[in-house]
Amino acid sequence: MGAIDQSVNQLQSADNEDITLFRDMLLRCLEKEVIPHYDQWEKDGWMPKEAWLMLGAAGMLGPDMPEEFGAAGAPFEVALMILEETCRLNLHSLSTALNVHANIVMPYINNLGTAEQKAQWLPRMVTGEVVGSIGMTEPGAGSDLAGMRTNAVRDGDEWVINGSKTFITNGLHCGLIVLAAKTDTTKGAKGISLFLVDSSLPGFKKGKGIKKMGQHSNDTAELFFDNLRVPANALLGEENKGFIYLMQELPRERLGLGSQAIGACEGAMAITADYVKQRKAFGSTVAQFQNTRFKMAELRAQLELAKSYLKQCEARFKVGAMTTEEASILKLTSTELQVKLTHECLQLFGGYGYTEEYPISRFFTDARVQTIYAGTSEIMKEMIARGELGR
Ligand SMILES: Cc1cc2nc3c(=O)[nH]c(=O)nc-3n(C[C@H](O)[C@H](O)[C@H](O)COP(=O)(O)OP(=O)(O)OC[C@H]3O[C@@H](n4cnc5c(N)ncnc54)[C@H](O)[C@@H]3O)c2cc1C
Repeated sequence: MGAIDQSVNQLQSADNEDITLFRDMLLRCLEKEVIPHYDQWEKDGWMPKEAWLMLGAAGMLGPDMPEEFGAAGAPFEVALMILEETCRLNLHSLSTALNVHANIVMPYINNLGTAEQKAQWLPRMVTGEVVGSIGMTEPGAGSDLAGMRTNAVRDGDEWVINGSKTFITNGLHCGLIVLAAKTDTTKGAKGISLFLVDSSLPGFKKGKGIKKMGQHSNDTAELFFDNLRVPANALLGEENKGFIYLMQELPRERLGLGSQAIGACEGAMAITADYVKQRKAFGSTVAQFQNTRFKMAELRAQLELAKSYLKQCEARFKVGAMTTEEASILKLTSTELQVKLTHECLQLFGGYGYTEEYPISRFFTDARVQTIYAGTSEIMKEMIARGELGR
């Protein structure tokens, strides 16, 4: 073995130790502090603020952020492991809330922010005192972000923001939003900038929570900005470079979505295997029917391929080589598999699968949005096609 291979192996085993350590801590924390309350949160359509503070105290919010901000400085795979495990345990609402807060918003600030911006926001996001959101989508601009109308106009030492956003995850809890707004309305996507907006400022209004078919306990809201004044230093990165930053951050965001999809698939497969082995029909177990065996075998084979691709993407991300196209392939294939797999697994539960009493129904409903948010499957195909065929 060469010296480089040896040092890569050493690095990987140090990372694996970190992941194991964090996984044990996470599972203990979920078992004690989350799972006993989760059904109630889902009924309430709301995860209490105390849960955020508890997760912060347990070191689960941005574990890979630098130590100077109170985080653990762990490898980024720890953050992905948290997303995967929470989905494996059928806690998809929590997972999505964490994905936005810790896997999207915190890296935006850490990668693009000034020293002052990082010091202002990251320590309080690590503790859960401040919950993070990202605001891109508007009633008239979803897949086509260039059509956004929220705008920011410079006025002396301030920016004045007007407009609205919709479907914002953590929108009701949010203390901070990374907000995309037009700073040049003549330039389409090239006129978008990002701002770090404090939700307590006058002119920031939170609408009602949006009722969804699944993932009930992560709050999703409309937000309104009426002559909202933010200081000049709330601009994140450079003016009019927002769209470039959104593209730059896609690989990390989609690694999160891919990890969630894989976790949910594993969780759904495990409970389905248990169920079909004990459920009887026509004098045998459901597991003994060839249809069941073939279905489970096909799903397992597809899942193992998806896991390999996720690992490949993680490795490429780590050395800064993961492309937007790869991120789109990962998001498309892993989330489409999640939707298909949870659908097929639910079928094997018969009528019981359609009841709330059996957890496969939650795996199924929580999965559905995965092919829609963070870029629909159709948009993923468009981005992959651009790599193949050009524009
Ligand atoms: C639960 C939930 C949470 C969300 N969280 C956030 C959040 O935190 N922050 C945020 O900014 N947004 C968030 N979103 C918004 C989400 O990202 C958008 O819903 C998504 O990007 C699609 O936009 P749209 O809903 O406007 O659909 P549209 O853009 O109107 O699309 C409608 C249909 O047309 C298709 N379509 C559009 N363009 C093309 C094309 N060029 N070629 C082929 N087909 C096309 C789409 O694929 C889709 O099938 C969330 C959404 C949901 C449901």
